[in-house]
Amino acid sequence: STGDILRGEIASGTKLGLEAKSLMDAGNLVPDEVVIRMISSKLDNNKYANGFIFDGFPRTTQQAKTLDLLLNEKETPITTMISLMVDEEELTRRLLERGKNSGRADDQNEKIIINRINEYNNKTAPLKEYYAAQNKLNEVEGIGSVSDISEKLNNVIDSL
Ligand code: AMP
Repeated sequence: STGDILRGEIASGTKLGLEAKSLMDAGNLVPDEVVIRMISSKLDNNKYANGFIFDGFPRTTQQAKTLDLLLNEKETPITTMISLMVDEEELTRRLLERGKNSGRADDQNEKIIINRINEYNNKTAPLKEYYAAQNKLNEVEGIGSVSDISEKLNNVIDSL
């Protein structure tokens, strides 16, 4: 999870964390180069992993293209991409609810949440086309109980 890595950087007070914090608090994406550098070092530090699940990454076409290059170099291309589908009203409700105890500045107010959704629509949603063109897009309905959604995710993974 690139979001978790970034929050870890903020908690440790690193230079990268300091740079990312104001962007994250406002619900804007952090620059591609920053996120790509983080992922690249995770890949290098886990050379013998059997695979990776990326959460919240890639978020832009530039990130997706660079990830393809990095993974092709290692001859371990992306197997599949899963898009969890939830309508904006429900997303806003869930994030405000999480904001009650997450301590995350970006969960606290509706304006910031709307900005995050706009960032998603403008920069991340186009990746569906990018992965569909590679026959790797799976859309899973993200409304329902946790166990129902988990089962749907497992079905996609088991079918590969
Ligand atoms: P998340 O934990 O996935 O909700 O991400 C929280 C925030 O971290 C986002 O609003 C961005 O500011 C930043 N972030 C996380 N992942 C990425 C990414 N792949 N590209 C750019 N910014 C990211």
